[in-house]
Amino acid sequence: MSGIIFNIKKFAVHDGPGIRTTLFLKGCPLRCRWCHNPESWTPEPVSIHRQIRLDGHIHNDSERIGVLTTVEEIMQELERERIIMEESGGGVTLSGGEPLMQPDFSKEILIQSSQAGFHTAIDTSGYADREIFRKIAPYTNLFLYDLKIMDPEEHKKFTGCNNEIILRNFEWLVRQDCEIIVRTPLIRGITDTPDNLEQLLTFLIPYQDTLKQIDFLTCHKMGRSKFEKLGLPYAFSGIDPTPSQSEVTKITSMFRNEGFTVTQS
Ligand code: SF4
Repeated sequence: MSGIIFNIKKFAVHDGPGIRTTLFLKGCPLRCRWCHNPESWTPEPVSIHRQIRLDGHIHNDSERIGVLTTVEEIMQELERERIIMEESGGGVTLSGGEPLMQPDFSKEILIQSSQAGFHTAIDTSGYADREIFRKIAPYTNLFLYDLKIMDPEEHKKFTGCNNEIILRNFEWLVRQDCEIIVRTPLIRGITDTPDNLEQLLTFLIPYQDTLKQIDFLTCHKMGRSKFEKLGLPYAFSGIDPTPSQSEVTKITSMFRNEGFTVTQS
């Protein structure tokens, strides 16, 4: 079984508990304007043109993003990290892109990782068929589940997709007693508006007892150079899309005051 990945991050500390190995799988159905991994969007590998200035000469080069990899190769890579992952209470996290765009590949990694005794997590937009969630849930210890924008029209405007399937899958995972951390990127004027945050809070309150925590994600400047390299229009040129620390503190307090465990990363 093989699939296409575009990065492996070792010693990851923001993708679930402990020190983790995070695998970034190619392909994403969404097109979030603030995406920090736009190179993940297409399912197939892409080449990025770049110019290197050396000794007064300009050299043209290209960087290939995405490599066909087998589950066996991935498991060998994970074995090398076993001690650090076990001693830190960490494990493996599938991210992307949207890892469920490669459902069979993701499922096989999750199955073999579980059999090897690794804690498994998946960082998902939630935009995938229910049947895929049904197949991978038994092998997934933790879902890092993105909830970005609650209004369907606004969600479509800023991510390119409607959010109904995302909200329904979230409710289904809760009913299956899956462990879930909600992740919400805070983007100035888009996800951090009082309307959106109040709708998010109202949506989550019924699930308060089952949710592990809410992570508010605040670092969004990294995507800019990637958009430029890929020749894609960047929505935040000259604008810092990250709210100020005092605004973030207000937002985290709003959810803490309702009894949620909240982190910021
Ligand atoms: S879901 Fe994640 S990877 Fe996909 S476009 Fe949005 S931010 Fe980027």
